[in-house]
Amino acid sequence: MKQCIKCGEVKDERDFSLIKSRGKLNGKCKLCVTKYVAARYLSHKDEIKVYSQIYMGSHKDEIKVYGAVYRESHKEEIAIRKAIYYKNNKVAIAAKKAIYYKNNKVAISGSSSLE
Ligand SMILES: [Zn+2]
Repeated sequence: MKQCIKCGEVKDERDFSLIKSRGKLNGKCKLCVTKYVAARYLSHKDEIKVYSQIYMGSHKDEIKVYGAVYRESHKEEIAIRKAIYYKNNKVAIAAKKAIYYKNNKVAISGSSSLE
């Protein structure tokens, strides 16, 4: 058991996340960390948005590689998620496709004739 330095509650060790770099448990419990992150996000929304855009821009390749590795190692999970999504959104997907096709008829038929 461990006491949270933020809310003062004594909780199970499972309720504290491990700080890998320091090899020890966080002083704040997971709930307090979640509250802190949510509050911080709300009060710094724009800064965080700008920062993540800059980050994405300067780490494009890393993010791409990470995404490829993730997709490769989570293939089944992703396929299942997609299937469930498709099943739950069949009508919406079909409608979107029909609209897209209608708006891009010329482009689609033009590109297929090149093949
Ligand atoms: Zn706490």
